[in-house]
Amino acid sequence: MRLQNLTVIFIIIILPVILLFSMYTKTQIDVLSLQETYTATLNVAVYDAVKAFKTNTLNDLTSKSAQSMIRDVNASINTFASSLALGFGVDGQNQDYIMQYIPALVYTLYDGYYIYSPVINQTTGEYEHILKPYIYYTVRYQRGNIDVVINYTLDNYLTVYGNIGSEYVTKAGYLESLDLLTVNGDNVVYDGITITDSEAKEYYKNAYNFTQWVTDELGEITEGDAKPIGDWDQESYSQFAGHTQQILNFENAENNPREDNSIFNSHRKGIIKLSIQNNLNAAMASYSRNSSYNFRMPVLQDTEWDQILSNISVIGFMQGIPMGLKVYNGYSYVVNTMNKEMVTENTVCFTDANGKIHKYDCPQMVESGIIGHKQYLFEKIQVERTEEVNGSYETTREWTYRTQSDYQNPTTGTYEPFDYGNYELCYYCMVSNNYEPVITNTRRKLLLETVAREKYRLYNKSNELNI
Ligand SMILES: [Zn+2]
Repeated sequence: MRLQNLTVIFIIIILPVILLFSMYTKTQIDVLSLQETYTATLNVAVYDAVKAFKTNTLNDLTSKSAQSMIRDVNASINTFASSLALGFGVDGQNQDYIMQYIPALVYTLYDGYYIYSPVINQTTGEYEHILKPYIYYTVRYQRGNIDVVINYTLDNYLTVYGNIGSEYVTKAGYLESLDLLTVNGDNVVYDGITITDSEAKEYYKNAYNFTQWVTDELGEITEGDAKPIGDWDQESYSQFAGHTQQILNFENAENNPREDNSIFNSHRKGIIKLSIQNNLNAAMASYSRNSSYNFRMPVLQDTEWDQILSNISVIGFMQGIPMGLKVYNGYSYVVNTMNKEMVTENTVCFTDANGKIHKYDCPQMVESGIIGHKQYLFEKIQVERTEEVNGSYETTREWTYRTQSDYQNPTTGTYEPFDYGNYELCYYCMVSNNYEPVITNTRRKLLLETVAREKYRLYNKSNELNI
């Protein structure tokens, strides 16, 4: 072939292919970087929402009512919307424009969750985001003469109501492994550790009685007996059909309600996940009906669900933003471990005689004067003061630390005020989180007693408020 012919072939066929390919690659790179920008913006907005939620709920010194929770969720949603608008460079008034790409925002709380999503406003015919009614983590079980509804939480607290034979029951309490816990009169031993703190003891005694009752009365219930409360998500529950593992039998050593992968916890998470998925699917499907984009619930990974179903969290979904040839579809979640609603081994901390705040297994913690606390108490709070200045009233706000009087000095045994501002975070365990854990029986006892005592206080407080 002559050289001129080769040149012609190159110009006519190969060059356009190369040009097209490089254009395509450039578009792909643009789409990728756009996708990263959108995801980062969404992450920041969800993070800001959690931060606002955390600050509001921790600042709330008095009430824990449903009304104050709705107020805190709404405030957090506003923060989310303005953060998102800011990230997209849209001014506040055009916030709605960007919110149309948010098919749902989910707040998973201690015993249920909120979905914030668009619904058709009957008067205007336009979509409008609303906070839907709170949905409890509930499920119904029918087996023989048992017909009960169980309300799960993010931890080992449970409420049961319904019929066992001809008796109508309502009971609530914490579950513990009957394999690890023994209660003999005033003697309480958990996993070989004798519990001496009086409030922790009360927690264990109550938990023991409740768990024994659950095991005796409901121990035969299997995963296959689970049914939805309503009719509409019946089909999705068929995935449990034929499952014969007993979920509420706590004499079984394999079923420790504190273990993440116990029969109880796997089932509890499965039920909560199903409820959230079903309701989110329904919310997104109803938004898709009159939209040009088909909003749908993405598949979250198991590790993500594990985080979400054990912590108070916010999940944000963003879908349908055009990006060249593609459409953006992403989600982001942030968990909030600083909260008043639940106590876990990860939400308590310990102060030592050196004035430092530690995790229970930190090698830097000195072994004297150790006191266990709920970690959120070390967060600053905003206090409002109204004073009369030259005949008019002026309100000032300032950030301050808490002082609390209900802590027992471990050395003297007396109750004294405790100033949370006098302690600082230990760098090794609380900041860098890079250390060789030191676990002794004394430390295990401290951890067990602190968690139990705080759960006991939380439960009693809830009872007083009648929640
Ligand atoms: Zn430490």
